Amino acid sequence: METDYYYSTPIVPMEAMPVSSWRKLASCAGVDPELFFPDHYQLRVGVMAAKAVCQSCPVQLECLTEAMEYEEDTFGIFGGLTPKERRELGSRSR
Ligand code: SF4
Repeated sequence: METDYYYSTPIVPMEAMPVSSWRKLASCAGVDPELFFPDHYQLRVGVMAAKAVCQSCPVQLECLTEAMEYEEDTFGIFGGLTPKERRELGSRSR
């Protein structure tokens, strides 16, 4: 079982990140932010629920790009990827 979702509190909350105009178009606007930080009790279901929101998001690429920039300080699902998936993507692109 993967363990990198076990953080329920992000080090850098989304609200603390730079405000970008693309955020206004985000599919998660108005969605409970906790959905993107599933705890270990609802790990698989929680990840799937968050990814479902991201899948239809028109600014997924912008979100993923920003999350990759802050990778060392972010937890949770951003840009449709988990922290582990973002790390793997980052290591492949280096
Ligand atoms: S990709 Fe997901 S986390 Fe990022 S803005 Fe869109 S819905 Fe929100």
